[in-house]
Amino acid sequence: MRETDRIIDGCAQEMIECLREIIRIPSVKEQPAPGAPFGRNINKALEYTLSLCRRLGFETANVDGYAGYAQFPGQKEEQLGILCHLDVVPAGEGWLHPPYEGVYENGVIYGRGAVDDKGPAISAIYALAALKRAGAAFRRTPRIIFGCDEESGWECMDYYASKIGMPEMGFSPDADYPIINTEKGIYHAQLKKKISRGENYSISIHGGTRANVVPDCAQAYIKGNTAPLIEKLNDYDCSENNLSYIVKEGALEITAKGISAHASQPAQGQNAFFSLLELLDKLSLGGEEGHIIQMLNCAFINKTDGSGIPGLKIEDEFGALTINLGLLDAGDYYGGQPDEISLTVDVRFPVSYNYQYVENQIAKFFHGWSLIRGHVQLPHHTPEEHELIQALKRVYKEYFGREGKCLAIGGGTYARALKTGVAFGITPEGEISPAHNKEESITAEQLILNAKVFAAAIEELACK
Ligand SMILES: [Zn+2]
Repeated sequence: MRETDRIIDGCAQEMIECLREIIRIPSVKEQPAPGAPFGRNINKALEYTLSLCRRLGFETANVDGYAGYAQFPGQKEEQLGILCHLDVVPAGEGWLHPPYEGVYENGVIYGRGAVDDKGPAISAIYALAALKRAGAAFRRTPRIIFGCDEESGWECMDYYASKIGMPEMGFSPDADYPIINTEKGIYHAQLKKKISRGENYSISIHGGTRANVVPDCAQAYIKGNTAPLIEKLNDYDCSENNLSYIVKEGALEITAKGISAHASQPAQGQNAFFSLLELLDKLSLGGEEGHIIQMLNCAFINKTDGSGIPGLKIEDEFGALTINLGLLDAGDYYGGQPDEISLTVDVRFPVSYNYQYVENQIAKFFHGWSLIRGHVQLPHHTPEEHELIQALKRVYKEYFGREGKCLAIGGGTYARALKTGVAFGITPEGEISPAHNKEESITAEQLILNAKVFAAAIEELACK
């Protein structure tokens, strides 16, 4: 047992109370205010955290409300960064335990941010404070960085990097155990094309909310001679495919339902466009619109591995490409441009490829369309042999009794902001994180254990 384990056990009650208090600050992004670029509530969460750190003896700094940090200076200026964030996603509906009350019941703390990422921030603070109290001699300077815009635009880290400069090395407790050392590249593109109206029908299509979400609803509105279409629909098993339709004002409106998921794992959801486009193709609408529907069928339906677009089904030892058709608009019935089709894709590509390769394959397939490049994040990888990962593996084995395997993901964590960085914790291996869901919670036991694990990790990396 490490000395820090004993100290952390002695702080258990205090840690629980601090987490409950910070959960009560609804730190969702809002309109900027003076000194609070992401709104007053996020700023309150930052102030609360920094004053807690000062009480525990840390040196702290508020980086103009974009971020903050707390540290104990080491012999060297070289830092070990521990990257957490204090902003949260909106609570959403359906909570049994109110999201911003910090309810503590049967050993479980409930609330938005409990695991993402306020719980880990509290664990990191008490981990480092415990090391200091244990009399640790810091060789590197351990610094906890608190970001304030992780869930939206990452402006916090951009600002921090340009104003202060990122640590060379570190970890971010904002995902899963054991160790995530590979994050795929992210590439968004919008594709647009002018279309000439079909002779028989005019079609409008709409669906999706964001490029990085698998759409759970999509609709099509068809005007023209709908009688033969309705006949075909009667023969089609609509309910089997989660489709429904209504006839209104002589036009036909079809609605497709799907299951939402994060675009980094599109196969876990059910894209509502798939069943909609498949049906539209079967209706043989003809004209250029019909041709495009056929083409989109080939490109996307049930092909979240990119296999519908030549050259795009790629993978390397760390994982395979995924593609999500996130948004699609055609025609003007749902507020789009008349005579135009526009769609947005989110691609997560393997680390050994670059986004130009991905873009070229898409551009070739969508020849004659205009391609507008959106958000791009380069892939991130820290080699398994690195001192950082070797130390985290030792600590993982010590506390969990298992080998700390390295994982690759399609999502993005703060680890990307570091030259040498990994995500480490906090969802236990094999469990599904309650992050971003209703009833987000963490057990007090996990909160304490994470602090012990982080303290050991910081000791290995900053003291030895
Ligand atoms: Zn997070």
